[in-house]
Amino acid sequence: MEIPKFLTERYRNWKNNTFEEYKEIYITASRNLQKPIAVIITCCDSRILENTIFDGKIGDYFIHRNIANIIPSINDKQENIQTLSAIEYGLKVLKIPNLIILGHSNCGGIEYYHKKIKENKKVNNFEYIDKWVSCLSKIYSKIPGDLSEDQKLTFFEQENIKQSIRNLREYEFINKLINENKLNIIGLWYQINSGLIKFLDNNNSFTNLD
Ligand SMILES: [Zn+2]
Repeated sequence: MEIPKFLTERYRNWKNNTFEEYKEIYITASRNLQKPIAVIITCCDSRILENTIFDGKIGDYFIHRNIANIIPSINDKQENIQTLSAIEYGLKVLKIPNLIILGHSNCGGIEYYHKKIKENKKVNNFEYIDKWVSCLSKIYSKIPGDLSEDQKLTFFEQENIKQSIRNLREYEFINKLINENKLNIIGLWYQINSGLIKFLDNNNSFTNLD
């Protein structure tokens, strides 16, 4: 195994600078149980820097990433284990009061599923991804036909966030926490090229965050 240069260089830089500067905070964090302020479910996409966007310090966010930030339905029994185990730990053990679903523009997972359906499955067949993105099938038919391609993808990305929130309600322990006002669910959509973030408001529409 070869350790690439970027790894050692960047690590050394962090250890000698950031870690040294915040050493006491790291030591304190290691002594106490983590107490994050939010669970964040987001996409694996490398352009999503949730800790940068929301000024995350050590211990602030309990993060789970998957392709296209999907929260599978309770009926997707094969697919939901990993995401739900992260959520279960965050809510039951750490008792985190906020759960954020952070979707985004230019999502490769969303685009892949869209192309797959549109081009009648002529795009790549992947052993695992195809099964995973099949969780999106329920909402695909909701995309209005008269939108441009870009608008369709944005609609699909945002509808996926709405559906994920609906899916959360299917899990009894989550639904109970919501009903008891112990859990706040937040849907966010992030636009990479502008830095814009929209949140899902009480009318089930996306509104600018600031
Ligand atoms: Zn994505």
